[in-house]
Amino acid sequence: MKVMLMDPPRFMGHPIGRILGSFGTNKADQAWPPYDLQIMAGYCRKNGHDFRLLDANNLKLSYEDVFNEIKIYSPDWVIYLTCFPNFILDAQTASAAKRADRNIKTACMSLSIYSVQSPEVQLSKLPDLDFIAWGEPEVPLMQLINGLEPQKVKGIYYRDADGRINFTGESQKAVNLDDLGVPVHSVLPVNIYKCPVSLSRPMTIVNCSRGCTNWCVHCQAGAFQRPVRYRSVDNVLEELREIKSLGIKEIKFYDCSLPTNAEFTKQLCSRMISEKFGFTWNCNARAEMLNEDLLKIMKTAGCHSISIGCESSDPQVLKNMRKNETPQQIEDAVRLVKRMGMRVLMYLTFGLEGETKKTMEETYKFAKRLKPEFVTFGIVVPAPGTPFYNSLEKKGQLRNKDLEWQDPNAMPSFSYPALSPEEILNFTRAAYRSYYFDTGYILNRIRTLRSFTEFKAGVTNALKMARRYILERVK
Ligand code: SF4
Repeated sequence: MKVMLMDPPRFMGHPIGRILGSFGTNKADQAWPPYDLQIMAGYCRKNGHDFRLLDANNLKLSYEDVFNEIKIYSPDWVIYLTCFPNFILDAQTASAAKRADRNIKTACMSLSIYSVQSPEVQLSKLPDLDFIAWGEPEVPLMQLINGLEPQKVKGIYYRDADGRINFTGESQKAVNLDDLGVPVHSVLPVNIYKCPVSLSRPMTIVNCSRGCTNWCVHCQAGAFQRPVRYRSVDNVLEELREIKSLGIKEIKFYDCSLPTNAEFTKQLCSRMISEKFGFTWNCNARAEMLNEDLLKIMKTAGCHSISIGCESSDPQVLKNMRKNETPQQIEDAVRLVKRMGMRVLMYLTFGLEGETKKTMEETYKFAKRLKPEFVTFGIVVPAPGTPFYNSLEKKGQLRNKDLEWQDPNAMPSFSYPALSPEEILNFTRAAYRSYYFDTGYILNRIRTLRSFTEFKAGVTNALKMARRYILERVK
């Protein structure tokens, strides 16, 4: 079979982060490869299918371009990545496929597909979309590609010959990640990918695990990707060897928290050291998973930065969101990483339950005091199906259920009695301006620059931030 895997075009000119269950427009000047499709490509390779992977999102292609590319490749299947806010818009990919050839089968996939509400209704409104993979997508999609009849494939919504929408029941959950083969990098234009935290380029993403040990109320990974699983170290190394052969120099390990499995992380690092890959890399981590021993070996293996999910400095907000961490643990982790000579990105989130003007100000001051090299000030998005969404709905605090506009950079779709959406948005935007356009911050960043790639990324990100948080108006 010929399978075309597609990350659909942008939304109103903004690149969309759809990978590994994420959603929303990019905050910074970044372009990450469509990793879910690379996993699917590896699975196609393992099953002996021909495939093509088109990253229309980062290549800035239009739907007309997508149509032309489908025509040229003439696949049996078009499978595209989606995310819940863009679910309807992304279905234009299915329409482009059917316009190219009515016989092409179309399907969409996302690790956060459970946030798409009423999938049977949605599918009935999208006549060009044949299948929605419901849950972990790889196994059901591969069974379909391999020719199994839809009614025998668990984990799909599909339209039968009479036009009725059917659901085949929950799919096999918790696939063994090694069974999916090894994600493919060689079919992508590796030079277009970039990340503000990178020290070198070309860069790429590698994901070693699925899910998170925690269950924060707003997080889809915590809610939908259970239980936590890691690939084997050998499987990851096979991928790293391909990456090395392509001349890629930097990796973002995009896991909820790589060091959560300390044994895996140590083994991976020792093998990276013994195989002398020479990559520079960074990863995400939960604060309490970091310790000096682990950071030491990570640093020796090339790790230069850690992104820590901090969210808030307010103990009650952290408690409400079930972060299962204290502000002190977060502060200790940030200080430890810096002491080890590595850089820190703090992910902060405004608008969680219990948030007030005062807690937002305190959280901002917390970041200023800890001086991370990078910080993001996101606005929490109530993703349908999460406890946060359910709680807002129950309390009548959801103002707008229009999925298209759910974005961590846009006007919040919820409102609290003592904190309006406008106040949250304005505070967030002001926080970006004041943190990144502070003379002390700029001088410090220049003083600690480690590479020309870092310098260039700093300049392009400053321009992007100025455009987004100073010049652009948000409704
Ligand atoms: S720790 Fe991070 S990845 Fe895990 S559930 Fe919370 S927000 Fe999600």
